[in-house]
Amino acid sequence: MTSKQLLKFITDIFLPNRCVVCSKVIRWDKIMCKACDEKLERITDSVCPVCAKKECLDHASLNFDAAVCLYSFEEPCITGIYQLKHAQNISFARHSAAELAKVLEKRGLAQGIDLVTCVPMSRRKKRKRGHNHAEVIAGYLAKRLDKPFDGKLLIHANTMTEHHKLLGKQRTENAKSSFSISPSHKDISGKTVLLCDDVYTTGATMNACADCLKQLGAKRVIAAAIASTQRGRKREK
Ligand SMILES: [Zn+2]
Ligand SMILES: [Zn+2]
Repeated sequence: MTSKQLLKFITDIFLPNRCVVCSKVIRWDKIMCKACDEKLERITDSVCPVCAKKECLDHASLNFDAAVCLYSFEEPCITGIYQLKHAQNISFARHSAAELAKVLEKRGLAQGIDLVTCVPMSRRKKRKRGHNHAEVIAGYLAKRLDKPFDGKLLIHANTMTEHHKLLGKQRTENAKSSFSISPSHKDISGKTVLLCDDVYTTGATMNACADCLKQLGAKRVIAAAIASTQRGRKREK
């Protein structure tokens, strides 16, 4: 047992460890209870390896080369991500990053990655939230994959538009105008970049960020997210 684990074990005696989703008391070294873990709908083997959707996006319009998503954006994944975004509980990110790393390794994508980055958050929002959850996921993933993390490649303009309230085409336009290359970026010519976010919906955000990374000279961009919404889901059921 490492000193960090020992501290967690002792803390657990006074402050019991709880499931990140349902708050049930769980073993000191777990993140989720068994019931919540089993309820998570894994989608890694049932989606397109390029766009990570069951019903493909238009591949010709994609600026990234591959995408990896872990879970369908349904409960209890929604609560796990809410905890990460709004309640400063980053356990779900740690758990998901470990799982994402396994998938990247299984698909043979991990080895070629040169650096890890994330979808940036506007400074105003970061101040309000206290952290950029995409950066937390990317940080854990970089550590797991033993690759360098660079969070200073892209910037998010302080726009007032709330992206999640927009629809398809509006999202694409909003995303395009929201992200740009950071003036203090490093040289990433010829590199393979892993781009991280929490939820992958229409792909507009990942696509806009991947476009910037390609403009910076990235050879390949792999998009990774904890969750994905599935357009074709209802019809398939
Ligand atoms: Zn639970
Ligand atoms: Zn596809």
